Amino acid sequence: MSKFWSPIVSRLTPYTPGEQPKIANLVKLNTNENPYGPSPRAVEASAREVGDSLRLYPNPDAEPLKLAIARRHAADGITAREVFVGNGSDEVLAHAFHALLQHGKPILFPDITYSFYPTYSGLYQVEYRAVPLADDFTLRTDDYLGHGDAIGGIIFPNPNAPTGCLLPLAEVERIVQGNPQRVVVVDEAYIDFGGDSAIPLVQRYPNLLVVQTLSKSRSLAGMRVGFAIGHADLIDALERVKNSFNSYPLDRPAIAGATAAIEDEEYFRKTCGMVIASREKLVASLERLGFEVLPSAANFVFARHPQHDAAKLAATLRGDGIIVRHFTSARINQFLRITIGTDEACGTLVDALKRHLA
Ligand code: PMP
Repeated sequence: MSKFWSPIVSRLTPYTPGEQPKIANLVKLNTNENPYGPSPRAVEASAREVGDSLRLYPNPDAEPLKLAIARRHAADGITAREVFVGNGSDEVLAHAFHALLQHGKPILFPDITYSFYPTYSGLYQVEYRAVPLADDFTLRTDDYLGHGDAIGGIIFPNPNAPTGCLLPLAEVERIVQGNPQRVVVVDEAYIDFGGDSAIPLVQRYPNLLVVQTLSKSRSLAGMRVGFAIGHADLIDALERVKNSFNSYPLDRPAIAGATAAIEDEEYFRKTCGMVIASREKLVASLERLGFEVLPSAANFVFARHPQHDAAKLAATLRGDGIIVRHFTSARINQFLRITIGTDEACGTLVDALKRHLA
């Protein structure tokens, strides 16, 4: 800390990202990356942009990407006017805090959730109330109803992170419908691994903003592309903030690569299916070893072993060259969050656990 820091920065607890180790050959199951790599068409399209054209600024609206996203959701009435894109969904979420959730009233999000939300609350001076999840780690819809304009808005991931638990679409709709005065942001970073997106509700609810990422199901975490879909008025607010911040959200290789990734539906469906199949196998193996695994609709599982300390297990696995995520906050410090890798990587993890739990 320094006397030159602003009060906001002095009080800020920055987000701690998962480890990106420098050592090669680790079995990396800690940051929910996709094990299968992006669509080859995305890689080619992006590579074509790396050359002389880098001399030129990119399209300021990332228009080809917005159009591709809108085309994919045309059946739900989405046009490019209802699409916002940003540098990873983290940036999209940051702009949503700034542009749509800041009303001088506390916003609501679950007590166990994506840990960027408290950070953005601090950065943008948005008060928040963390609403406890139920004992089984599910979100209780009723807790988010009946607040009128006493709250500044609502944000939650669906499926939730780091639990992986899915809120059924009908419950998401109850929350959106029950808060017509405020924006409800549904962060669908993991929705493609087994949930129903709220995008089809956007036409009916002008207060709904759905945020998605290309980092997980499209395997482009390194490219940093995320987007939001919502009523054009919400998108305009995000564009205002973006244009006051950095009017070029995406670079040329990212626009080209992300557009091709969105258009490669076949590769997307195939790789999501593979991740889901591996998840079901991993859940069965973990349960055979005595783990309790929360029902997951994501590309990770959240599991605890009644007889083994999670921090110790994580450290032991690290010694074997296998990285999983362990969180230290009280209610979840006996859980491990394990990203779904290839069947081979999951097999290496299960074999190591068998050795250590024997
Ligand atoms: N939302 C949730 C719930 C996440 O877990 C993540 C990944 N850390 C993100 C958003 C951000 O993803 P990205 O910035 O890579 O799009």
